[in-house]
Amino acid sequence: MNDWNIQSRGHTCHDCEQTFEDGACFHTLLGYDKGEYLRKDICQQCWEKEAEGATERKDFISRWQGTYESPPPEPPEAIQKDNAEGLLRKLMETEDVRWREASYILAVMLERKRVLKVKEQIKDEGARVFVYELAKTGDIFTIPDPNLKMEQLEQVQIEVAALLEHGLPVEGEPWPPPPVDPKKETEESLEMEEEDSPQTEAAQVETNP
Ligand SMILES: [Zn+2]
Repeated sequence: MNDWNIQSRGHTCHDCEQTFEDGACFHTLLGYDKGEYLRKDICQQCWEKEAEGATERKDFISRWQGTYESPPPEPPEAIQKDNAEGLLRKLMETEDVRWREASYILAVMLERKRVLKVKEQIKDEGARVFVYELAKTGDIFTIPDPNLKMEQLEQVQIEVAALLEHGLPVEGEPWPPPPVDPKKETEESLEMEEEDSPQTEAAQVETNP
């Protein structure tokens, strides 16, 4: 089941294929078909047509109205910048369950910064799925609630901080990279000078295998 995905806002009406104009009102319908969330953006006229038959049409589970904004030209550095939003996209593109918890924490962070807005909470076989909208572009992210326990939270936050700092793991390289604590390093090198210190022995065992 693909309940974890990103879908961009359409630039044309799904039904009549007219291009949305800047400032135009449009409607987003979120459907669920064959285990996948499917997004459809339609213009006001088509929505009115669709709404007339709404009692028979139950193929969407969520709907909201938006105002189409022409996308601003994106500066190239913004695409490369590994910020929280870029990281969330990358994590979701991996489709790796390993990052589900981290993705959820990132989404919560971005929601606090008002980068993402919760549009809907869907109950999916007892689990909760959040439908987030990226305020800037109207893209939607469906992210299941991983039901993190308090004791897991800290570990996931550490993981997210490491991802923000180092990016995704590279095959064959340790991840997260071994921590470099400048203060600790100084302490260790100071201790190295005292020959009889037990910590010195431990440090030497580590450095001379
Ligand atoms: Zn239309």
